[in-house]
Amino acid sequence: MSGVTFLGTAGGRMVVTSQLRKSGGFWLSLAGKNILVDPGPGSLMRSVELGLKPAHLDCIVLSHKHIDHSNDVNIMIEAMSGGSFRPRGMLLAPSDALEGDDPVVLRYVRNYIRNNIKVLEPGFKCSLDGVTVEVVIRMTHADVEAYGLKFSFDGKTLGYVTDTKFFSGLPEAFKGCDYLIVNMVRMTHDARFEHLLPEDVIRVLKVAKPPPGHPQPLRPAGRQGKTRSRGPAHRKGVQSPHHRRRRRHAVQLRHWQSSYRAYHQQLQLIQANYSQTFYHGGIAPYPDN
Ligand SMILES: [Zn+2]
Repeated sequence: MSGVTFLGTAGGRMVVTSQLRKSGGFWLSLAGKNILVDPGPGSLMRSVELGLKPAHLDCIVLSHKHIDHSNDVNIMIEAMSGGSFRPRGMLLAPSDALEGDDPVVLRYVRNYIRNNIKVLEPGFKCSLDGVTVEVVIRMTHADVEAYGLKFSFDGKTLGYVTDTKFFSGLPEAFKGCDYLIVNMVRMTHDARFEHLLPEDVIRVLKVAKPPPGHPQPLRPAGRQGKTRSRGPAHRKGVQSPHHRRRRRHAVQLRHWQSSYRAYHQQLQLIQANYSQTFYHGGIAPYPDN
């Protein structure tokens, strides 16, 4: 089964550095492949907390090199390769994340994946044995290379609109996606920052809307959503470490959800227009209207 797990939906300096929301990027399980996108601060911790196994990753993708998208890339490469002892996996990243004055991928960890690194650029497309990753458009975002991506799997397409300001051609690039993840950091315009605003997201959705007929929502990956036997420890009224860990996760999740409340309220503008769009980082069956 394919699914997406948000290891965090934070973006922007203040939300990330305060950890008002987590910032680990998102983990795609698509057609049997595990792909980590934009491993920001806390990506390793969140994935382990949620029962995901970094050593099972097949690919790590950086849409761009800003720290809220790339902070954990090195440790996740190390984790993907079993601490370097089982060299495997692939990295996809823009050239300025790899070379130039200020690369973010350490050179020594590149050996852990046998330098299996592909450079994202306009027209990029690669196949991961059942999943195709392609660059659909170059974003306009500060002074870094940033790319909008599409992941195709099992006859479906998931689009990722990473950080960018709105520009002509952006919505069209994501036309026909079955699912869409959109980074929206700001509620109001500020010329200093090149990010999407709510009205920009609406413009994207109005054009990118796929043909009628909504796909099934993607289910979260990892342990979430699975039903498990409660086990003998539960029947005896004694909690095993496993159950304590699950309970702790549940508490963390409630805390996490409550911190979203104010954020959700701010997003009523979109909700009013697009009742089927959801927001924890915005994966969406598209709106009807
Ligand atoms: Zn950015």
